[in-house]
Amino acid sequence: MTHRIRRVAVLGAGTMGVAIAAHCANAGLEVDLLDVAPEGEEDKNKIVEGGFGRMKKARPAALMSPSVAERMRIGNFDDDFERVTEADWIVEAIVEKPDLKQGLMQRVEATAKKSALISSNTSGIPLHSVAEGRSQGSKKRFLGTHFFNPPRYLKLMEIIPTEDTDPETVEAARNLGERVLGKGGVICKDTPNFIANRLGSFAGMQPATYAFENGYGIEEVDAITGPLIGHPKTATFRLNEQVGLDTSPSPSPRTSTSWYRRTSRARS
Ligand code: NAD
Repeated sequence: MTHRIRRVAVLGAGTMGVAIAAHCANAGLEVDLLDVAPEGEEDKNKIVEGGFGRMKKARPAALMSPSVAERMRIGNFDDDFERVTEADWIVEAIVEKPDLKQGLMQRVEATAKKSALISSNTSGIPLHSVAEGRSQGSKKRFLGTHFFNPPRYLKLMEIIPTEDTDPETVEAARNLGERVLGKGGVICKDTPNFIANRLGSFAGMQPATYAFENGYGIEEVDAITGPLIGHPKTATFRLNEQVGLDTSPSPSPRTSTSWYRRTSRARS
């Protein structure tokens, strides 16, 4: 098995997919960025084009320079999935739904070359469940590569092997992350939410819960838990919103940001 990575296929052109694709292009890799073709639309690239366009305007900039985008080809799952055969690394970054990720992995297994590294950017779904149903050969080459938003700027990259992942694959992912992409790789156990999100969910929710139980509002809390105390301007609630508590697979009503917003409005 060779792990020389020159071409990457990024599957999913949402927030993370486009930004991972851009960062790979920044590092000199050739990139295919693919997403679903919209139903009932003539332009099958409409979704991927939307994501690609937003990525080019992202602030802070996702691309090191506009010309880097020339290393990126866009396409859709209907017409262009065969391009996955050319990829040395295939990274999945579609919606956080186990069944959809499993379905896509089945397609990747049928298409990817046998030496390709295959990974998922899931935020918290155990990787062994994403790989469920795949052959032992594919499972050996599969693991989690969890980037943080925005991937060009955030150093951490969680590397999550399953029990079936070959140690060589783990080493290849670590080399890729650290030497090619400039990330700091941390190996995690394959438990839900891995390390950072598991810790982060407590760190984020504790002040939020305290605030509401003691009658503080969203704006007040963000005003005193942001730059004033040396924390990022996303503070408490803006951070929770940005990392997507609302879009996690099964948010409990009391932990979703929209619940807080509704409650806050009702209280004020
Ligand atoms: P997103 O909603 O912005 O994008 C998801 C993409 O998946 C969309 O482009 C969509 O067209 C595509 N998609 C939708 N349905 C699909 C289907 N049936 N088959 C294939 N593709 C489909 O999501 P995101 O925030 O980019 O998250 C992508 C992955 O990265 C998730 O697993 C998420 O947990 C993870 N992640 C997100 C963040 C973050 O901060 N947003 C950070 C780290 C990891």
